[in-house]
Amino acid sequence: MAGTLYIVATPIGNLSDLSERVKDVLISADLLLVEDTRVSAKLLNHLQIKKQMISCHAHNERERLAVLTDAAEKNLNVALLSDAGTPLISDPGDQLVAKAVELGFTIVPISGPSAFLLALVGSGLPCDRFSFEGFLPDKPKDVRDFLISLVKEPRTLVFYVSPHKLERTLAEACLLMGTRKACLARELTKMHEEFLRGTLADIKEQVGRSQPRGEYVLVIEGDRPGSSGEEDASLSAKEYEEYVRLRLEQGDRPSDVAQDAAKLFKRKRSDVYRLVVDFQKERQNRLGECNN
Ligand code: SAM
Repeated sequence: MAGTLYIVATPIGNLSDLSERVKDVLISADLLLVEDTRVSAKLLNHLQIKKQMISCHAHNERERLAVLTDAAEKNLNVALLSDAGTPLISDPGDQLVAKAVELGFTIVPISGPSAFLLALVGSGLPCDRFSFEGFLPDKPKDVRDFLISLVKEPRTLVFYVSPHKLERTLAEACLLMGTRKACLARELTKMHEEFLRGTLADIKEQVGRSQPRGEYVLVIEGDRPGSSGEEDASLSAKEYEEYVRLRLEQGDRPSDVAQDAAKLFKRKRSDVYRLVVDFQKERQNRLGECNN
C-alpha cells in the first residue's frame, strides 16, 4: 500500500497566501520533490522547516519516477512543489502524478494560488467557459498558426507570457483579434500588481510605452456573437481587410498572406489574392507619392 502524494500549491509572490494546511503538509511529508531546491529552500526557511528535498524539473522528471517507486515501497508520504503557484500548471509534474496514480498513491491536492485563475477572475471577461493555453510556442510562425487555430474559439482565452515576448505576442494577437476585449494581468499578488483592460489594440499601445517587466498573464475575450459590440458580418469583413493590410505592411509574402487569410476568414483564395493585389497597388502609389 503506497502513501500519499500531496500536490502543494505555493504563493506566486505574496507569502501571506501560505495556508496553515500547506505548512502542516510540508512538516508531515517524508520527502519533498521540488522544481528547484534553492527556491523551495527559501520557502522552507521562512517556515522554519528542515526537510529532505529532491529536485524534479522539466529535464529530469522521467528519472524521478524511480524515486516515487522507491517511496511507494517504503510507504512514504511525498509532497510535490513547483517554484511558485500550482504544480503541473505550465510546470513539471504530469508524469509524476500519473505514475503516483499507477503506484496506488492517494492523491491529495493542496489548494493555493495559480496565476491564470487570478488573472481570469480579475479580468472582467466571462469566466463561465475558458481555455487555459499556457505559454505560446517559441517560433513566430508557430505562434501565428497557434493563434489562428484559436480565432474562432468562443471560450475566454488565457495565456502565460514571458516579458521579453510580450510585445511580439500582443502584435500577433492584435493582427487577428485586435478589436476584442482583453486584460493583461501583471505581478499578481505582489506590490506592483496591475490589470490593464481594454481592447487588445489599446493594451498593445499602453505596453509599447514602457519596457515590459515582471510576470504577465494575458486574457482575451472569446469569439462570441456580438462580443465586440459590432455586427458579426461587418466585424469579420473589417478584421479580414485589416488582417491582410497589416500582414502586407509587415512585409509578409503575398502568397502566404492570401493562404492564411483564405483559411482564417473562409474566403476564396482568388478573392483574397485580388484584395492583396489592390492593397499592394495602393501601397506602391503611396510610396510613389512620397518619393515625388
Ligand atoms: N505553476 C504556476 C501557476 O500556477 O501559475 C505557473 C508557472 S509558469 C512556469 C510561470 C508563468 O506564470 C509566468 O511566466 C507568468 O506568465 C505566470 N505567473 C506566475 N506568477 C505570476 C504573477 N505573480 N503574476 C502574473 N503572472 C504570473
